[in-house]
Amino acid sequence: MMKKYDFIIVGAGILGLAHAYHALKKGKTVLMLEKNDKAMGASVRNFGQIVPSGFGCKWQSFGRDSLEIYQQIQSEYDIQVKREGSVYLASNEEELQLLTELQQINQSNDYPSKLLTAEECLAIYPMIHKNYCVAGLQFEQELKAEPMLTISLLTKYLVHILGMEIRYNTFITDIYSNDQAAIAFDSLGEKYIGEHLVLCTGDDFQTLYPWIYKKVDLELVKLQMLELIPQESFIRGNILTGWTIRRYESFQECPSFKDIKEKEDAQSLQRMYGIHLLFKQNIDGSVIVGDSHEYGKPDKISGLKLHESSDFINEFILHHASLILHLDMSVRRSWIGCYSQVRHDEIFNHRIDSRVRIVTGIGGKGMTASFGWAKAHFEELNP
Ligand SMILES: Cc1cc2nc3c(=O)[nH]c(=O)nc-3n(C[C@H](O)[C@H](O)[C@H](O)COP(=O)(O)OP(=O)(O)OC[C@H]3O[C@@H](n4cnc5c(N)ncnc54)[C@H](O)[C@@H]3O)c2cc1C
Repeated sequence: MMKKYDFIIVGAGILGLAHAYHALKKGKTVLMLEKNDKAMGASVRNFGQIVPSGFGCKWQSFGRDSLEIYQQIQSEYDIQVKREGSVYLASNEEELQLLTELQQINQSNDYPSKLLTAEECLAIYPMIHKNYCVAGLQFEQELKAEPMLTISLLTKYLVHILGMEIRYNTFITDIYSNDQAAIAFDSLGEKYIGEHLVLCTGDDFQTLYPWIYKKVDLELVKLQMLELIPQESFIRGNILTGWTIRRYESFQECPSFKDIKEKEDAQSLQRMYGIHLLFKQNIDGSVIVGDSHEYGKPDKISGLKLHESSDFINEFILHHASLILHLDMSVRRSWIGCYSQVRHDEIFNHRIDSRVRIVTGIGGKGMTASFGWAKAHFEELNP
């Protein structure tokens, strides 16, 4: 007789792993099914910045739960997550105003942060250009990960320590459910039986339940990313800069945000291509720098040109990055990442029936918020 699992999870990205973690912690049996020979989506193409400070109040709390969970796992099994903190660097008085307001919001939320003078920023991050930085806001408790490695190690932790089963090269093309079970069929006709099925299939809207996605205001976001060659200097944690302060959701809750945004030139390249500058050093000393944001509808995917990057965007990113940090700007590799999001919602959480759920469209929040969000989701599912 075929084994019946408590949970079948389709997609081995961070949202799938986070759901598997909470199910396993509740003593459930879990089978994870991934169409490639390892996770290949946004979860292995990102910065690895685990930064709840970038979110508005509601999602910050999911991010804060994730910080705890990542550290709990790290204490049991090395997943290459490090607590080196984050800093937002203001380049002028307007951005400093937003940092000051965000700090007040965080104070009332009990989320510790520290305003740093330019000199204090330079003491911690000596590679900052003196004429860029007027102040910084530091979140010492935030984490950084090595996306490709962390996802692989997290998967190993779930398999070897918590007992998850996983099948790679298993492309789920059909789902059937009735009052007995949920059944997933792969492209070779194999079937997998579960009590519950959670689909965390990232930006694939064509294979499973495409008619459902047609009714949702989903979009795909293309990001251009660069990796600089290994650097001699050590860069602590996550560095986020002025254009990030002018973009991230947390700052949108600041009283001055609207007025400051209205003064910006909407035709500037950074506004038109959603460019802001983030830095994170990898364990081998290389540095990820990015990124840009271009938006497209899933049924007009060719317009996004996901197969190629625009040189002018990469050159613009590198030029402005070189005005912020003294680094060797030689590029070792570049890539494109893509995530899905819902235009007027925070995530796509859809119940097909009592056994089957779709969870996707977490946008740019996944590495930070998935563990915390999945924890709350499990409480709601109450399996
Ligand atoms: C360039 C970039 C930078 C980012 N930086 C950050 C950051 O620093 N911090 C942060 O918090 N977030 C960041 N994000 C966002 C984060 O990476 C995403 O929110 C998150 O990875 C989404 O995870 P997911 O599991 O939903 O999707 P994915 O990672 O795309 O995983 C989906 C998986 O499902 C599999 N799959 C799909 N269909 C099937 C099927 N039918 N059968 C079997 N398997 C299937 C895919 O192969 C894939 O492995 C960034 C994203 C990008 C693209």
